[in-house]
Amino acid sequence: MSREKSAELYEKSKEYFPGGVNSPVRAFKSVYGTPLFIDKGDGPYIWDVDGNKFIDFCASWGPLILGHNNPKIREKVTETALKGMSFGAPTAIENELAELILKNNKFIQKLRFVSSGTEAVMSAIRLARGYTKRDKILKFEGCYHGHIDSLLVKAGSGLVTFGETSSAGVPESFAKETIVVELNNIDAVKQAFKEYKDQIAAVIIEPIPANNGLLLQEPEFLQALRDITSKEKALLIFDEVISGFRVGFEGAAGYYQIQPDIITYGKIIGGGMPVGAYGASREIMANVSPEGAVYQAGTLSGNPIAMAAGIAQLTELSRSGFYKDLNNKTQEFAESIQRFASARNYKVRIQQIGSIFWIAFTDREKTQAASQIDPASMEKFKVFHRECLNRGIYFGPSGYEVGFISSTHTKTDLEVAKRAIFEALDL
Ligand code: PLP
Repeated sequence: MSREKSAELYEKSKEYFPGGVNSPVRAFKSVYGTPLFIDKGDGPYIWDVDGNKFIDFCASWGPLILGHNNPKIREKVTETALKGMSFGAPTAIENELAELILKNNKFIQKLRFVSSGTEAVMSAIRLARGYTKRDKILKFEGCYHGHIDSLLVKAGSGLVTFGETSSAGVPESFAKETIVVELNNIDAVKQAFKEYKDQIAAVIIEPIPANNGLLLQEPEFLQALRDITSKEKALLIFDEVISGFRVGFEGAAGYYQIQPDIITYGKIIGGGMPVGAYGASREIMANVSPEGAVYQAGTLSGNPIAMAAGIAQLTELSRSGFYKDLNNKTQEFAESIQRFASARNYKVRIQQIGSIFWIAFTDREKTQAASQIDPASMEKFKVFHRECLNRGIYFGPSGYEVGFISSTHTKTDLEVAKRAIFEALDL
């Protein structure tokens, strides 16, 4: 498999962009080789610039639940683009996407469109602070919420700590407003509320944590978060940038039947275009400008072409039976890899929910983050990733990243992928 053209482009891109990329994980730093430059995609497949074809499980990091180059999305986007790219004034198409979402999701009553998941979370945090008139945010170790200063924070030592910045350029004073605790540990959350009585504006969680592997939480833990935040008059924010429209149209809120106060969306909502959103009850959303005092704006927010892609994608997802088929085939796929690995006593565990899966090189189920994930397992992932790539299977280039299955992955694609995965595991 030649990767000559990708290698040439990478040499050039390193002159233009830090590390040669426009988002760090794309640089293949934690796996072997140089990044593949992608030429095109169709359904479950992508082709690199050297003409190599791959079955794709990265799906642009989640948005492409209908696979690549979906004809309905393409048509709606082109039809909309013929009328102009952006107006910075209200358009009917924003109403159309909002209606489609709100009619099919009982967990939010109003929403605001933004242009990325990061922006959605940043705005949700400001809204929570403005609404509660408190400053501190409680987050969980291992949850990623975009590159927002106050959330680029990792756990310090101890059960309940102020966070420590996890990026240069984030002032310590920002990190001081963020409390970081372990996932799936309600005692730590209770302790934090005790120590910072009446100071915590919101608890933010990925209800299906999928950025440090797939760390499925006990439903009782999520319910306990709901209970304690209600009791303490703090808001509960579900960051559903990955899980929203992925595990069901109503995301994790619907999956667990838990009503958070604010929900953030991204990825799938934009059908592959840059869209994010945050939503809540009418009462909470009334605090957002120009109705309320919490300022939030965007030149390209609600961009018509991005809305068009979202409408075309979400229309498909709202059809009955869509998620059942997708989730069933993912479950079968994950179970058969698990059976294969277990039969050979490999230290491999497949976590799966909806159409998300994570191949972990461990023998224990994980519900918490880094401290539980053995770095040696990432060495195993490196080899696995290289061998899969050599066999035409594309996974995101990091062992902490989950895989996604789209509606276009056929039984045959999944059989072909499994054979390659089995070979890669055998090495
Ligand atoms: N929140 C979660 C849960 C995410 O997974 C991500 C991105 O992966 C973000 C927020 C940030 O979204 P974006 O990359 O669109 O800014």
